[in-house]
This record gives sequence, structure tokens and C-alpha cells, in this order.
Amino acid sequence: MGGSLNIGKLAGIKVYVHWTFMLLIAYIVYNGYSSGLQTTGVLYNILLVLAVFTCVVLHELGHALAARRYGIGTRDITLLPIGGVASLEAIPEKPKQELVVAIAGPMVNVLIASVLWLFASLALSGELFQPENIENTLQNLSFPTFIVSLIMVNVMLILFNAIPAFPMDGGRVLRAVLAMTMDRVKATQIAARIGQFIAVLFVLGGLFYVKNPFLILIGVFVFLGASAEAQAVVTGSVLSGFKVKDALRSRYTVLPASATIKEAVAELLAGSDQDFLVANEGAIAGVLRRKDLIRALAEFPNETDVQTIAPFIESNLPYLKPDNDIKDIYPMMQQSGFTLLPVLDEQGNLAGVLDIDNLTEFIMIRSAILEGK
Ligand SMILES: [Zn+2]
Repeated sequence: MGGSLNIGKLAGIKVYVHWTFMLLIAYIVYNGYSSGLQTTGVLYNILLVLAVFTCVVLHELGHALAARRYGIGTRDITLLPIGGVASLEAIPEKPKQELVVAIAGPMVNVLIASVLWLFASLALSGELFQPENIENTLQNLSFPTFIVSLIMVNVMLILFNAIPAFPMDGGRVLRAVLAMTMDRVKATQIAARIGQFIAVLFVLGGLFYVKNPFLILIGVFVFLGASAEAQAVVTGSVLSGFKVKDALRSRYTVLPASATIKEAVAELLAGSDQDFLVANEGAIAGVLRRKDLIRALAEFPNETDVQTIAPFIESNLPYLKPDNDIKDIYPMMQQSGFTLLPVLDEQGNLAGVLDIDNLTEFIMIRSAILEGK
């Protein structure tokens, strides 16, 4: 992730801290001093946050090491102010493996909480853990408070990840359990719907019951996470096995690079093409996207019949081959903003174009077929 500082390696996995994490520390310092804390109090809070984030890193390391058992590497672990992310190179598709990898993270927190609890009951006064004492303890900055706070944070991490909704670990556990008796796509769709239902409960609860903006925020975050996960799995599964040649469009409009903006607009209005391949002296010069044509219109509103489209074409294009896997090409086109790409055959001749709108339709049709099964 951009803007992240490498702070070292754990079990051979690089650990990064995102720069926004420094904002969190700055906020703690500011908030501490402005609420009248002494320097030791501020240091105490910083130390507590660092300890909490160490627990988060260890949680992520739990996922990473479990995945390593199944031969799946982890690119890195990145700490954000909202939590940690372990970038696994793949998500295990076998349900039992996904279950183990998903549970491994929260299990680390169970372990940390248990060890701290044991330490606290043996070394510190056992009376600390009477409910009325916990509240008193939390009001002063002491070593026992530190330990009790850390235990509570780990318990919260366990509870939060026990929610059976993506992107929490509980969502993955639910999917893995469902996938043991059904197809993985179906399992993902069901898990995503359950997650969205829970998300709606969060939002409603946050709005009308406890009136807590954080609950609403978590609800929105879970809702979006559930949809994204379901979409990614469905898309990947729907597209797997298909090649570029299966979705190739052989009818398309080629504009000469010398065409004027006016001519291109006429072409846009006359046909169903949104984006155009542009040729110059028999060779592909690039692609004119609709949004670039609109931009050209805005820049040269009075010269549309003299200004050519040449400055507005995207010429730095990847060329596709008929045998490329669509599963790889589709996310690439989505991320890079290419809406239309030329496909060249073995001899380097133009075989057709791949159009993202066509691909989206292709996915919708295949998903509908899958859903009906
Ligand atoms: Zn986790």
C-alpha cells in the first residue's frame, strides 16, 4: 500500500505501518494534553495504543502463518489506524483450509487474552477482576489498568470478528462452513446476504436503539464489505474458464486519427459504440473513449469541425490475445480504466475488441444462470 513505512519483518513477512497511523498518535498526544493529562499520562496512552496494535499485528500473523501451512504466502502485513490487513497471495478455496485460516486470527487474541488474564490473576491482585473494581481500575493510569485494558481490547477483537459478516473473520468462517455442503459461489452469496442483514440491524440499532454513530458506520462498512466480497467471488467464478475470444466483439467502429471531433460525435450518436478504436495509416493508434470525446467537446466547443480527435486518444494500451483468461483481464480493465481494448491474433492482426460493457453484460447473464441453478 502506498505511503507505508516498513518497520521490520515477522516470520519473514514484512510489516508496514501506514502514514495515517502517525495521525492517530498525533491525535492521542493532542487529545491527552488538551484534556489536562501530564506527559506520563500521554506516554501511557501512546504505549497502550502501540500494545493494542501489536495485538492486531499478531492477529494478522495468525492468519498469515495458518495460510503458510497450505502453501499460501503473504505479501505483507499493513497497519492502518482502523486495524490490520494481511495481504494473502490467495484465499484458500478449500472450505476446511479457509476455516482454519479465518479462525487463526481471533485465536491469537484468545491466546493473548488468556495469557494476560493468567498473568494478572497470579501476579496482580485477583480482586481486580470483580466488576466493580474494573471500573475503578480503569480510572487510573497504572500497570494493572494497562493489563486490564489490553485484555478488554483483545476480547473486543474476538467479539467483533465473531460477527458472521464479511469482511470480518466470522463472515469467512460462515462461508467456509456453508461451502462444506454446497458450491462456493452459492455459499458466498448466502453468507453475504446474512452479513447484509446483520449490517442493516447495526444501522437500525445505531439509529434508533443505542443512537451510536459508530454502530451506523460499522453497519455501512459491513454492508459494503459483504457486497464486494460476494461480487468478487461471483465474478471470478463466472469468468473462470472463459478466454478473451469467448467475449470478443467482431463488429466495431474504427475512426481515423484525422477524424474531427464533430465526425466522432456523429459516430457516437449514430451507433451503439461508446468507445472507438482509432487507426492511423493502417496501424492501431489507440482508443477514443467516450469520456475523452466529451472532454474534447468541452475544450473545443467552437472548433468541432476542424479540431481532430488525435490529442484525445489513449495510445498507451495493452494488447490482448484471444487466449488470455478473462478472469485476469476484467479486474485489470476495471482498475486501469480501459473500457475497450484491441485483441490481436497470433500473426499480430486485429481479431476484434474486448469491451468492458460487454463483459459486464456477460457477467450479469452468467450470474443469473448460476443463481437460477
Ligand atoms: Zn482477522
